Amino acid sequence: LKAGACALSEPQFFDTGALVAVLSTQPLGRALDYRAPEGGCFAGAFVEVPLGPRKVIGVVWGAGQGDYDISKIRPVIRVLDAAPMRDEMRSFLQRASDYTLTPMPAMLRLATRAPGLGDPPSMRRVYRRGDAEPDKMTAARRKVLAALADYGDLSFTLKELAEMAGVGASVVKGLVAHGAVLEEDSPRDQPFARLDPALPGKELTEDQATGAAALAEAVRSESYGTTLLRGVTGSGKTEVYLEAVAAALRSGRQALVLLPEIALTAEFLTRVEERFGARPAEWHSGATMTERRRIWRMVGEGQAQLVIGARSALFLPYQNLGLIVVDEEHDTSYKQEEGVLYNARDMAVLRASICGAHVVLASATPSLESWVNAEAGKYRRLELKSRYGPAVLPQMRAIDMRAESLPANRWVSDALRREVAARLERDEQAMLFINRRGYAPVTLCRACGHQIGCDHCDARLVEHRFLKRLVCHQCGETKPMPDICPSCEVGGRLAPVGPGVERLGEEAAELFPDARVATLSSDMYGSARALKEEISGIAQGAADIIIGTQLVAKGHNFPKLTLVGVIDADLGLQGSDLRAAERTFQLMRQVAGRAGRAEAPGTALLQTYQPEHPVIRAILAGQEEAFWAAEAREREAAGVPPYGRMAGIILSAPDVAQVFDAGNQLAREDQPLRAIGAQVFGPAPAPIARVRGRHRVRLLVKAEKSAPLQAAVAKWVGQIRLKGDLRIAVDIDPQSF
Ligand code: ADP
Ligand code: ZN
Repeated sequence: LKAGACALSEPQFFDTGALVAVLSTQPLGRALDYRAPEGGCFAGAFVEVPLGPRKVIGVVWGAGQGDYDISKIRPVIRVLDAAPMRDEMRSFLQRASDYTLTPMPAMLRLATRAPGLGDPPSMRRVYRRGDAEPDKMTAARRKVLAALADYGDLSFTLKELAEMAGVGASVVKGLVAHGAVLEEDSPRDQPFARLDPALPGKELTEDQATGAAALAEAVRSESYGTTLLRGVTGSGKTEVYLEAVAAALRSGRQALVLLPEIALTAEFLTRVEERFGARPAEWHSGATMTERRRIWRMVGEGQAQLVIGARSALFLPYQNLGLIVVDEEHDTSYKQEEGVLYNARDMAVLRASICGAHVVLASATPSLESWVNAEAGKYRRLELKSRYGPAVLPQMRAIDMRAESLPANRWVSDALRREVAARLERDEQAMLFINRRGYAPVTLCRACGHQIGCDHCDARLVEHRFLKRLVCHQCGETKPMPDICPSCEVGGRLAPVGPGVERLGEEAAELFPDARVATLSSDMYGSARALKEEISGIAQGAADIIIGTQLVAKGHNFPKLTLVGVIDADLGLQGSDLRAAERTFQLMRQVAGRAGRAEAPGTALLQTYQPEHPVIRAILAGQEEAFWAAEAREREAAGVPPYGRMAGIILSAPDVAQVFDAGNQLAREDQPLRAIGAQVFGPAPAPIARVRGRHRVRLLVKAEKSAPLQAAVAKWVGQIRLKGDLRIAVDIDPQSF
């Protein structure tokens, strides 16, 4: 695909019927026909149309399709004064919707999440304020809130909102007065400072320079392609892909760097600023409404040259996108698990293929999918084999826990304790890693054996001592720690069982009373900013022992850190998930990679009860190629991704019998699946069997790689009638199977 293909050639113009995709939460899977407005409209125009008794916003998608009398269908009310959605964006949304089987309205909402669709700036706008409820709910107020809820983050003038909801302006004013709806000036957008790709970058090593040149060349070709940039942690992948960014900026195209959400570090932004002399646009869920509006517009005008963002940055209206980098491409947080179920890595490739951009997938431990695509020659492959400078890869060893005798409620073995002490003596840092948030995973009543669970989910409540509460990691519900057992009502016998990151911090403080212990867990910091500051402090040496969860495994540079101790290397290997091995391998290599990033060599120690487990052995030996090849063979034999295709169908309802009935019925009516040679498994309780009071069952569909999975699944689930409170969600390429 050439870049030119995305430029608007001849804009399509409609003066009779027009097909409009509607941006409403109503479950409409398809676009609707409307009569073109007086004077016609162009494809991509944002319009207001009637839908039932309401007025809703939509995008003109194409020519009307129905075989009808044009005078009898309802007309478009007006064309909004907003920059139209580009052809390229519409094809992207269409194909993403077809691929993920997401109804178009939900897909469209991802692309219009920024408020203030092209309205004149500096007009007073209203929008929903979090979940704030007014003191008194009336039918009219409910209409207003429902209208706002329909549009996510879009904002409107007070009058527009009242009109849309079909109520008087005073109702909206009332809600503003009560704080449930916010009204504020939308200021003129501040432009972004120019990034200068001509500033000199770091002097690259030979390997890095070769990689950078290859990427720059790929970006200059202005055609689609994907490169898997693989390099051990600390090898300079970031330096290399920043040169690809420079190449895009030099040819006047925009670049996007996706990072796993929690890795949006101050350190990274500083590096970009050092390289290009100005700060890029930062797109993430914590950004203020004003900032998001600004970025959305500036990206659309091509003024924002570089966006650093979380996965939803893929849906910004780029004018001229030339490069997408997906850093830590294997990271599971790229898969959105609520609402629209998509994998940002796959969507990045799709988007790039539509607009002729280059994709760089960077990782020290690529996903098996990307590894297989590179092996098959679909992706180019670049490799950085050694760490930059004097830094060498950490040594990895197992601590055989069967040979250790630990007292109750202690998790740091003697062997590990001695190693930590040695680091402290040399004024180096040590990290203890456990992938469990909170104080203890289980709260047990020692009188009756009851384990405190969530009232709404099939999950145990986790004690968070720092918050002084029990928290459900599934639905977020929290409650104070009870004094008596909720089951037997005996007091004083509730006890924490097992370690979480907070409890490990306590143990470390007892074992090393003179050390400064910093526990890094997202819920211990009031804001992302506070967490970022803590991390920069630690990087500068403000702590001796760092206790952390997955949060610390990603991207941070702690130059004084020379030892990583993994408390429970076996944790991820439990369960029946076929991806467990891949995940554990990635996580362990990633965590170990934190050690020894500067001059002092690093060591990683894995506490394990099964040192001879093949995955643990592969991790210790660092035999990546052999590990991937073995994993690939197993997946191929099982016919699962990336060698076969899968889809998960999750049915949920408050009534457990109803979900199973519906699941069984669906399993019986599998004709559309059999027609493509696909198999269906289940219904079985979903990996999370109950969430927020809804029971969930899952059916898994397995098909051959070349089978038309989406079409068959759409036909198959289309057979089910959604009675009562039954809901259905389709998950193409599920994370766990
Ligand atoms: P990766 O992304 O592969 O983990 P980074 O790009 O973060 O590696 O590089 C690791 C560290 O080495 C960083 O502090 C980086 O600034 C430094 N570094 C890498 N390459 C060079 C270079 N060519 N010149 C100077 N510093 C470099
Ligand atoms: Zn819950």
